[in-house]
Amino acid sequence: MTTHAERYAESLMNAFGPPKLTLSRGEGAHVWDTDGKHYVDFLGGIAVNALGHGHPALVDAVTTQLRTLGHVSNFFATEPQIALAEKLLELLGAGPGKVFFTNSGAEANEAAFKLTRRTARTHLVAADGGFHGRTLGALALTSKAAYREPFEPLPGEVTFVPYGDEQALADAVTDETAAVLLEPIQGEAGVEVPPEGYLAAARRIADEHGALLWLDEVQTGMGRTGAWFAHHRTGVVPDVVTVAKGLAGGFPIGACIGVGAAGELIQPGQHGTTFGGNPVACAAALAVIGTIEAEGLLDHVSVLGQKLRDGLATDPRVTEVRGEGLLIGLDLSEDRAADVFAAALEAGFIVNNPTPRRIRLAPPLVLSEGDAAALLDAWPAILDRAGLAEVSP
Ligand code: PLP
Repeated sequence: MTTHAERYAESLMNAFGPPKLTLSRGEGAHVWDTDGKHYVDFLGGIAVNALGHGHPALVDAVTTQLRTLGHVSNFFATEPQIALAEKLLELLGAGPGKVFFTNSGAEANEAAFKLTRRTARTHLVAADGGFHGRTLGALALTSKAAYREPFEPLPGEVTFVPYGDEQALADAVTDETAAVLLEPIQGEAGVEVPPEGYLAAARRIADEHGALLWLDEVQTGMGRTGAWFAHHRTGVVPDVVTVAKGLAGGFPIGACIGVGAAGELIQPGQHGTTFGGNPVACAAALAVIGTIEAEGLLDHVSVLGQKLRDGLATDPRVTEVRGEGLLIGLDLSEDRAADVFAAALEAGFIVNNPTPRRIRLAPPLVLSEGDAAALLDAWPAILDRAGLAEVSP
């Protein structure tokens, strides 16, 4: 009999390498593979499944909207689209602004990239280790050579600076700079948290040169860190914010939000999309936001995230734990992240190994205390099985 792995290899482009599992169903933070094996999902579709799998509020919103009005094109407005734009601006809390809806994080960043070109400047400053997506524009702003080199030349002019280094940022930004682009916490880099005051410094440096401050909150936004936006903890007010991933809890959507004058830069005919702002995706996002509010999930995420970080750090083979809320990164004592991934899978937990020595967790925001406790109980045995040598505490 042909296996899923064989059928996948025969029919899908080999962009991702062989899939780790074939999953067949999910419920809350739990998933099952096609052999019936159960896993607790600490990756959540890479920081996407905010409400986990099959949450009734999300299922109801999507099915009701699909039954009512499924797609209309951007020649027409719909109530869910307007309501979501209003809600995002309210949650951002940065005053008047305007939203452009997309279908993904990369597209949200493409929209923002185009928006920056409307400043009549073309130079951008972004950070080493940052990740902004795989379209050519988003890739131009992503530093990793392995992602960039097969596709060069990429749109310019982009200067990359070490993340978290205020002086390097001050040296790179000039009066020709259209925007400074930063993640408030770098996700793909393995959850890299910048030093206190870094975003405020970026705001000040951008202001000194009349540049926009653009924050990519695709991974950190929509409650992931225990705040609606990760930058809220810093008090900084950005000009542009991009979101996607958890926004509609697994339904494809992204948004580019321009604050104040930045929201007026794109004029009729200068950008567009067929699906962006689709009423079903917007209804899904409204349901996710409404559920986070109704269930008090921001506080839950902050408290549970702290418990997880504290618990994971007690094993001396974990040399550092970083992150906010339920975006957690940890460093191992050896380059065995791939072995930890495999050992966790064996034990019934899905985690992620973004670099050879780093593990990332980004579980559903509805993860229960019991699910978190189960991983903490299993953690020492997972590290043993991964072959990490004992180290004295
Ligand atoms: N920006 C950040 C910070 C991300 O983490 C990602 C995806 O991981 C993206 C942009 C790209 O989003 P998408 O994969 O939806 O295009």
